[in-house]
Amino acid sequence: MTGKIIINAERCKGCGLCVAVCPASLIIISEQSNKNGYFPAESVTKEVKSEGNSECTGCAMCAIVCPEAVIEVLREDSGKIDITIEPVKTSKPNLIEEKK
Ligand code: SF4
Ligand code: SF4
Repeated sequence: MTGKIIINAERCKGCGLCVAVCPASLIIISEQSNKNGYFPAESVTKEVKSEGNSECTGCAMCAIVCPEAVIEVLREDSGKIDITIEPVKTSKPNLIEEKK
């Protein structure tokens, strides 16, 4: 099975988690920052990457681990896959319990 990912670079925070988990080493951190000042992740093809020749399997590990939920995974045999794992986001920090 071959896959492909699409990263929304403008919403990426450049944390590098996706880079760390990709078993095929197909994700790198860009040298150019996005409009928010973060250096976003970007995918590379197996032809571009420096070592090995593994290609994207569509395993979705990168999308699952992404705290910003900005990676979409497509698989060649089953079309677009919607990633349903969303980070839990609250409208305000919940570090201090509010007094009643
Ligand atoms: S879907 Fe899997 S193989 Fe493809 S880029 Fe993401 S982690 Fe790597
Ligand atoms: S895990 Fe998500 S936020 Fe972090 S670098 Fe990858 S795409 Fe960007």
